[in-house]
Amino acid sequence: MQTLEPGLKAAIAPAAPPAVLMQTDTNSVLFRLLSMGEDARRNQYAGAERQLMPRELVSTILRAMRMRDPAGLLHSQRMAVISSGVAKLLGWTDEQRRQLEIAAILHEIGKLGIPDHILHKPGKLSSEEYDFVLQHQHAGVSMLQAFHTDPTVIAMLTTLHHDLSGSNAHMEVPGQPIDLPLGPRILAVADAYDSLNTVKPYRRGMTHAESITTLLEKSGRRYDENIVRTLNRWYENEGSALFRLTESFYDSDRTPEISQEHRDDVALLSQFIGVLFQFQHLYDGFFLLDARENYCIWSDGMPSLTGLPVQQVLRRSWQTADVLLAPLTDEQATSTERDDTLVAQAIRSGRSSFTSRLCRVSGTSHLKVDVYTMPITGPGQKVAGVMQLLRNKTGVRRQTREVVELKIAAMRDPLTGVANRGQLESQLRHLMEEFNAQDGTRHLSVIFLDVDHFKRINDTHGHQVGDQVLVDLARLLQHETYSAEVIGRYGGEEFVIVCPDTDLESAVRRAERLRVSIMKSSIGGMSNLSVTSSFGVATGRRNDTVKSLLDRADACLYNAKAAGRNRTCRESDLDTATAVEPGLGEEEKIRISESNGLFHFSDRVEVSTSLEITAMKLRAFISEHRGVVVDQEKGKMQIRLGTPGFFGHWGKTTARQPVDLRISFETTRNARSPHEKIRTHRLVTVEIHSQGKVPGMDHFAARCLSLMRDLKAFLQGS
Ligand code: GH3
Ligand code: MG
Ligand code: MG
Repeated sequence: MQTLEPGLKAAIAPAAPPAVLMQTDTNSVLFRLLSMGEDARRNQYAGAERQLMPRELVSTILRAMRMRDPAGLLHSQRMAVISSGVAKLLGWTDEQRRQLEIAAILHEIGKLGIPDHILHKPGKLSSEEYDFVLQHQHAGVSMLQAFHTDPTVIAMLTTLHHDLSGSNAHMEVPGQPIDLPLGPRILAVADAYDSLNTVKPYRRGMTHAESITTLLEKSGRRYDENIVRTLNRWYENEGSALFRLTESFYDSDRTPEISQEHRDDVALLSQFIGVLFQFQHLYDGFFLLDARENYCIWSDGMPSLTGLPVQQVLRRSWQTADVLLAPLTDEQATSTERDDTLVAQAIRSGRSSFTSRLCRVSGTSHLKVDVYTMPITGPGQKVAGVMQLLRNKTGVRRQTREVVELKIAAMRDPLTGVANRGQLESQLRHLMEEFNAQDGTRHLSVIFLDVDHFKRINDTHGHQVGDQVLVDLARLLQHETYSAEVIGRYGGEEFVIVCPDTDLESAVRRAERLRVSIMKSSIGGMSNLSVTSSFGVATGRRNDTVKSLLDRADACLYNAKAAGRNRTCRESDLDTATAVEPGLGEEEKIRISESNGLFHFSDRVEVSTSLEITAMKLRAFISEHRGVVVDQEKGKMQIRLGTPGFFGHWGKTTARQPVDLRISFETTRNARSPHEKIRTHRLVTVEIHSQGKVPGMDHFAARCLSLMRDLKAFLQGS
């Protein structure tokens, strides 16, 4: 994200900022995407007939689109009606027409990830903005892939925007037979027709006759003449019904008020698209495997890297020969890992890796590529999927991307591509001014990071490996940080991450997450190299300057080094930095009571996410533990885990140690004292009741503690 110009960078921050901070690091977002995809897969085959996309998901998306861009949704709906009408006249089956309708409805899904000032910009988009929108559309289609959307719908959407880019000229050659399938051709005509008809801020809408004439003029080149004529026929037959039909469509699930849940849905969807857009922007191709090692995303760039079109890959299981990556150097070739693929390594080790390879594109041609392989882990570090990202090192990158890159070159560190010190300080100054101007309710924190014993890495492996470590580290930071955060290279092996709207506690958690992630990744392209970093964290105070804030973070960093490295130090309330011992959790306050052989435990967990997101995380927890939801209402849930053994006695395994969990969720806003600021607390209260005959209090306590540890990992996204 850091490689964009400030305008676009600001653009990437969620347009309608969620009321609460969600887990937006890449791993958590992808884990969530995989879980929702898994739910979608189950739902799809649950009913009597296979759905093109689970109905619930469709209505969530529709609602989100209505919130973000009601006019855009109406356009998509009219386009669906028109396409379907035209297809009927062309003799399409009902099933085919449903596919077409869904594709039309979703044809601007990428908009969900685009900020308001571009989405609602009056006038035409600049070519940079257009590229930005197009890349979001690709990202949106990747998201739909992960949601198990019907492959024909996916294929239509993919071809549709190939066309939009203008460069992919299926129809540019006059007289040439068009090899584009009929579906996208119908969609293209319906799209253009409705756009011409509709009043835009920069032009009046055309009449039906004018629209048809315009389309016919461009037919053969951009639009299929037969389809334009069919559209005209359809209009004459039943065109008057168009708006009536569209209206009923629109009414079908109208929600008068927008709830927090709906806002969270929008935030979640835009987060998915945001992360996928980042991959789209930084890499030439990527794919995602689910826990069964089936492909659930095959990005639009993958076909040209492998020769495999999306239809041949999606949903089937991963095979070594799909992406052929040959070693680049003798060292790689002779390494013991040569027979193993990067994907297999990632699954086995649970570690990310950065490396370079030769990618075989066809029988004879090879491309030098950077490969980033990232296992996606869920609670308990269980590998739930793998993402592999490929970046062409030699080829020509798309021109628009270069233009953007040139503009920002002056602000970037040339080695790592993140903001340089000057840029970082100027952004921090800007945020500092905002921070000092407000009423004391907002936060601004900084994380200072320094690689441990970096000189040793240089001395042992050479400067080049040292450089590669810095490049990989910066890439990892980019993947792990929120889009609103600024990453900068402060000096040699020192990086600073500026976290707006983040209090000290959260910033320390961010730092800890980064620290663990660095420690576990294979950085620098060598498997035997272990890289760790130390962190200092400070938070803004009234009238801080850029220097005073960075100085405090630096002082904390110094303490982290002194305390033994590979750890995070924060400034404490008393002004002296204190170390957070690695791996030390919050103190657990246990409350267990017993009556008549029944045990009862209760605890509270503070979370930063809204009800909806918390409920989603809970559902993941339940499915992980094979639990059953016994009862559920807004903000409350009762879950049963495990079944009793013979005669109702607890067994040795947790599956035979039944408990009931009563979970409730509350949000409060208060201040602990009159001088303190008002804070929002989101508390999850957990009560655990024993079921069956428990051998003793210790057994119950052990079961509760382990459940709570796991539940916290889910809810707080460890
Ligand atoms: P510590 O754990 O105390 O931080 O130990 P260290 O060795 O990392 O600390 P020190 O700050 O003394 O060393 C930093 C080294 O980083 C010194 C310098 O040669 C090296 N360095 C600085 N910039 C670059 C760079 O761009 N590339 C490479 N390869 N090395 C660099
Ligand atoms: Mg160092
Ligand atoms: Mg240093």
